[in-house]
Amino acid sequence: MKISHTFDAGSIEVVSLDDPADIRLRLRADNAAAFRQWFYFRLQGAEGQALRMQFENAGEAAYPDWEGYRCVASYDRRNWFRIGATRFEDGRLIVEHRPERDSIYYAYFEPYSYERHLDLIGSVDLSPFARTDSLGTSVQGRDIDRVVVGRPAPGRRPVWITARQHPGETMAEWFVEGLLERLLDPADPVARRIRELAVLYIVPNMNPDGAVRGNLRTNAAGRNLNREWREPDPLASPEVFLVRAEMERTGCALFLDIHGDESLPYVFFSTAEEVPGFSAEAARAQARFIEAFAAASPDFQTVEGYKPGRFGEELLTLASKWVAHRFGCVSLTLEMPFKDNALLPDPVAGWNGARSKRLGAAMLNPILRHLIDAATSSSA
Ligand code: ZN
Repeated sequence: MKISHTFDAGSIEVVSLDDPADIRLRLRADNAAAFRQWFYFRLQGAEGQALRMQFENAGEAAYPDWEGYRCVASYDRRNWFRIGATRFEDGRLIVEHRPERDSIYYAYFEPYSYERHLDLIGSVDLSPFARTDSLGTSVQGRDIDRVVVGRPAPGRRPVWITARQHPGETMAEWFVEGLLERLLDPADPVARRIRELAVLYIVPNMNPDGAVRGNLRTNAAGRNLNREWREPDPLASPEVFLVRAEMERTGCALFLDIHGDESLPYVFFSTAEEVPGFSAEAARAQARFIEAFAAASPDFQTVEGYKPGRFGEELLTLASKWVAHRFGCVSLTLEMPFKDNALLPDPVAGWNGARSKRLGAAMLNPILRHLIDAATSSSA
């Protein structure tokens, strides 16, 4: 048997690989921080064998709430499926599986590769409705790619969407891919109206270094980008520094920051009520946005989510909270599950890339509703 991980987003530590029934692994920490949870590796030479893999330090993961989590696997890196025999016992994650082929990939969640990211940017750039540019470079010199849909014109509102500040949350970039496919569809009437009413600035991957390195949560300098928004550092968190500066230039009338949540098996928003100065008018606009999203996708719900006070003193260091405070606009963090949506479970796939894409496409409905409401109230 052999385990390899020296590829895009690969990450694991091998402790012992002598016995297929007792494979010992450890979750590797981010390259410059102590967060650990993401794993992605190829295992070869075990066709037909009953594997028992133990992740010895799963109890020390960033979010050790593994209850209900099932490992994902793929033979071809296109079709990913869940492994039912995944359980958490005595601080260890145990995965039992009998691979049908000699070569199989195991991962924490369906990956979204850097090559796919470049393909996405390239295909978007071919659309007559969009252009792409680079806002600058990451700590390690990768482009902070941005998509701009629509051209600035009087009355068109600036909408910002960012994804993958936390690089292990690959569902966030799947979401953006689905959103962009619909937004650039010449036949979609919702997309057409949005393109008439807004200019959309979309950053599909805020953290390309962390994504390539197989980090869960931080950039190459060990910074958690979603705690950098109050005072981004041009050297240690240039990814936020560059996007925030451009946002100041364009203004922001609606902001969505796309994430994944390791613990809760639901799709939910983290909202802006706790932001100082959050007005009654902003609260009404936020409520209308949430209601329109619930109508657009049965995968979204409003009952389960974060408890008030979760972010404490750090509140205004988070992207969507900082934007709500700075621009007074509707500004939301979307969370999708790493596990599954308990309201619409899929035992084969769990939550995955395809479902994230459909959710991204559905997000156009509340965006249009919000733009029409804003246009109506400003002309009244
Ligand atoms: Zn996140």
